[in-house]
Amino acid sequence: MTGSPATRELVETLQPLRWQEPKAAYDVVIVGGGGHGLATAYYLATRHGITNVAVLEADYIVSGNTGRNTTIIRANYGIPEAIRFYQHSLEMYQALEAETGAAILHQTKGIFWLAHTEMAMRAERARCLMNTACGAKTFMVTPVELKELVPQLDLTGGGRYPVLGASHHVEAATARHDRVAWAFASGAMAKGVHVVQHTPVTGLVRRGDRVVGVETPNGPIAAGIVLSAVGGRVTSMAAHARVRLPVRTHPLHAFVTNNYAQGFGPILASTELMCYVSQTERGQMLIGAEFDAQPSYSRQSSFAALRSYAHKITRLLPFLADLRILRTWAGICDISADFSPIMGETGVPGFLVTTGWGTWGFKAIPAGGEAMAELIATGRTPALIAPFALDRFARDHALADQGSTGTR
Ligand SMILES: Cc1cc2nc3c(=O)[nH]c(=O)nc-3n(C[C@H](O)[C@H](O)[C@H](O)COP(=O)(O)OP(=O)(O)OC[C@H]3O[C@@H](n4cnc5c(N)ncnc54)[C@H](O)[C@@H]3O)c2cc1C
Repeated sequence: MTGSPATRELVETLQPLRWQEPKAAYDVVIVGGGGHGLATAYYLATRHGITNVAVLEADYIVSGNTGRNTTIIRANYGIPEAIRFYQHSLEMYQALEAETGAAILHQTKGIFWLAHTEMAMRAERARCLMNTACGAKTFMVTPVELKELVPQLDLTGGGRYPVLGASHHVEAATARHDRVAWAFASGAMAKGVHVVQHTPVTGLVRRGDRVVGVETPNGPIAAGIVLSAVGGRVTSMAAHARVRLPVRTHPLHAFVTNNYAQGFGPILASTELMCYVSQTERGQMLIGAEFDAQPSYSRQSSFAALRSYAHKITRLLPFLADLRILRTWAGICDISADFSPIMGETGVPGFLVTTGWGTWGFKAIPAGGEAMAELIATGRTPALIAPFALDRFARDHALADQGSTGTR
């Protein structure tokens, strides 16, 4: 495991957050102060010199999924378009402390993706080949190698889920979610971007076909471009522009245990069991699994989810049964019809979206923000995100990706 260097020194170089009152008009208004909205603002200001920008947040920044996720960064997806995009984001994360001066506590841990059946072994071998071809480092490991690397693992899976092997994506990492978002917020604010909390956007202002601003409880704000980055609230935001998105909102839960005294270095995941675990920098075990089957806007924790996650993960790591559950929480995820993100133009002039981040969008924050900023600044869609355009559904070019389904 490799960690962040000189954390204390880096914390001290982070710029303070400078709050401003909103103006009546901006070149760009970004709706949603999560990771994607804040990163887009940061790259607009730092890469393109566009600073007449406001990020409007209904609650406080990072109150959405960016502050609720399990922080796994990886690029071991199943289709070339996704692997290239997420690999770029993974590399941006590796350089983010140096770029922003903020201690985001980035740690390269590697992720083991367990296979319990022959069919899953075939899928993991295919993942390794596809990842290698597209620039992500993923290799197969045997059960014997796994046991050496993760001694706590029960290779019999509690007698029910035998571990036949795993793929090992060596550059997978974690980083502190709130620090990532604050880094982008403070960097953008230092350049003059306005980040405005407790200001929900309640509608969009239209002139003819074009979106020319947003409505808020304190009155309208004019904008050259409006970008929706509202996480699970996206279908209602897009409806204000009369855009219909192939997105449903599903809750996703996670929980942490009390401190586990031994170090647990890697991230461990099982696609067949749909669960995963890593250790936080404080020593807690952080556990997640698949999203709720029933669409909902509820962020209420559920005992059913907790019981199901705990049951599955303790088959693989029996020591977890001796720990206590400290906290559980949920976020509401924007799941697209093909489990891939939707970035860019909507067909309505002046109105863009960055959405479909579902249960896997934390890792995408740097690359997604960078690409959306480039699109806004230049009017041209960067090649890296062109496959993720909304019109792929109308063109019958959906990007179904088993590598992102369900978890993380
Ligand atoms: C439990 C859980 C675990 C996860 N684990 C991982 C993981 O390990 N790795 C990974 O890559 N991804 C993970 N994810 C997914 C990841 O968290 C999200 O995809 C990502 O944070 C999305 O960022 P965002 O900026 O699009 O949305 P958000 O962070 O949700 O931000 C959207 C913001 O918009 C605001 N907003 C909404 N409506 C309005 C409005 N009308 N006006 C103004 N503001 C508004 C909200 O208040 C919110 O702050 C997980 C998610 C959850 C819930």
